[in-house]
Amino acid sequence: MALKPVIGLAGGIGSGKTTVARLLREAGAAVVDSDELNLAQLHHPDVRRELQSWWGNSILDGSGELDRKRIAEIIFRDPNDRRRLERLVHPRIARERERLIERHQCDPQVRAIVLDTPLLVESNLDERCDAVIFVEADEEVRRRRVVERRGWSTEEWARREKSQNALDKKKSRADYVVVNNSSDLAQLRADVHALFERVILEASSKRQRGPDD
Ligand code: ATP
Repeated sequence: MALKPVIGLAGGIGSGKTTVARLLREAGAAVVDSDELNLAQLHHPDVRRELQSWWGNSILDGSGELDRKRIAEIIFRDPNDRRRLERLVHPRIARERERLIERHQCDPQVRAIVLDTPLLVESNLDERCDAVIFVEADEEVRRRRVVERRGWSTEEWARREKSQNALDKKKSRADYVVVNNSSDLAQLRADVHALFERVILEASSKRQRGPDD
């Protein structure tokens, strides 16, 4: 069975990576969502036990569930706590991601595997991909989307935007660009579906030629 391409999505905050991932899923891709993997690992009993041993019951809410807001506060305040959490959770997420990719590779319904991950280039996951699509939207459009739709404050936007690598670096790493400035979802759908066919075709001819040709 021929291997299916692994496609990574890069782009600024609010550019529309998750929206593009959804449209790729419609076209026959399976999506591996890093936010979902992260959430599942945080709630894993082994991880939860470890976090409780570090930070006590303060990380539980009134009904004994993990309080993610509280954890976010802890790691925002202390970079050492952030690194400690990442050292625990990241290898587990990476293993789970690989397990899902393998599973999708064996599923005849799946035409490609998409990695929807907030920091594809920063976490070097672009190296795991056969193709990277950069989702491009102007800063003003991106800011408006997250402020209006997610209720972020302007300060929250600025803080998160600053914490990411420069967008031109991410764009230069990408093999394809899809522009998502308008709110015309029908146009975006048509663009994404056409691009998907192109990526599949080019990935398969690249494989036939060999990686160094
Ligand atoms: P993040 O970097 O924060 O994960 P993202 O790049 O995954 O964001 P999305 O979540 O896909 O971006 O989009 C941000 C918001 O903008 C969402 O509420 C989404 O519904 C909306 N949005 C994205 N693209 C469009 C579009 N073409 N028209 C209208 N709304 C859009």
